[in-house]
Amino acid sequence: MAKRKIAVIGVGKIAQDQHLPVIDASDDFELAATVSTRGVGHGGVPVFKTPGELYAAMPEIGLVSICTPPGVRHAYVREALAAGKDVMMEKPPTTTISELDDLIAEAAKRGRVLFQTWHSQYNAAVDRTKSILAEEGVKSARIDWRESVRKWHPGQDWVWEPGGFGVCDPGINAFSIFTKVMPFPVFVESAALTFPANKQTPVDVDIRFKSAEAHKPDLSCGFNWLEESGEIWTIRFETNKGNEIKLEHGGRKLSINGELVLEHGDREYAGIYERFASLLNAHQSDVDAAPLRLMSDVFLMGARANGPEFHW
Ligand code: NAP
Repeated sequence: MAKRKIAVIGVGKIAQDQHLPVIDASDDFELAATVSTRGVGHGGVPVFKTPGELYAAMPEIGLVSICTPPGVRHAYVREALAAGKDVMMEKPPTTTISELDDLIAEAAKRGRVLFQTWHSQYNAAVDRTKSILAEEGVKSARIDWRESVRKWHPGQDWVWEPGGFGVCDPGINAFSIFTKVMPFPVFVESAALTFPANKQTPVDVDIRFKSAEAHKPDLSCGFNWLEESGEIWTIRFETNKGNEIKLEHGGRKLSINGELVLEHGDREYAGIYERFASLLNAHQSDVDAAPLRLMSDVFLMGARANGPEFHW
């Protein structure tokens, strides 16, 4: 079957690190254009300044992958759906739940495929963890998500603006795993958010969760964005059977009681594009709103503290 023509909108770090190389290597997709306010192209395909110019000039492109920051996503997705495109969105989907609900309804109304990617969910070790927890239950869970903002978002001022999520931008990756693998619903009980005194989004967050489970599982989480020793992307569970399940490397390494049981490389974005291809074949949308809902509750429940100023 001929490859499907796709355009990438927003050619920043994640588009260049992952989307473009993965599309280049894909059996399902072929890059047909980019939309870039700075005029960034790839492989000689046409480059447009705005989505509107793309839709007018190349109506044969039926798919777009929107890799901008979340603040502009709602408008871009609305415009794409109105132009009759099927759409893939980077995470976090939007800055508010109301916008996401609107996009889900709009895609359904227009009969288009809308796919919300959560790259950390595309790991075999995450799937294995989910089946273990479904079988054994959860007595406690601890998320530790620490990384360097200077390494992962170099010079990106949008992350510090309202709607930029701050450290909750990587933190929502942890939530995308957590909400996928937990065998019961969790709620935010309290959250302590530390903001650099000169910024509008948090750099450090501590969360306690509660549940409706009678055995009162102990559930907590810490995010930090000034970790320079390397990435700590770990979730530990103790099951009701007493086993310690440790998921590390952002969902790529699984140990049980200290013994490695599964470790694999990074196929997250390849998995996302394979999933998009199967959704298109089935003409089905897939939008998991749970990680954004839980993160919104962190902000609703958040107690603010000011910390030292942040400068790149
Ligand atoms: P980025 O490097 O700042 O790139 C975003 C690009 O979007 C910009 O370079 C720009 O590209 C375009 N854009 C359009 N409107 C914009 C606006 N109002 N403000 C800023 N940029 C605008 O950011 P990124 O790291 O690629 O992140 C983009 C999305 O991917 C975010 O939702 C992020 O959470 C997610 N993500 C990032 C990473 C990571 O490692 N950084 C990993 C996974 C997911 P043009 O100049 O080409 O228009």
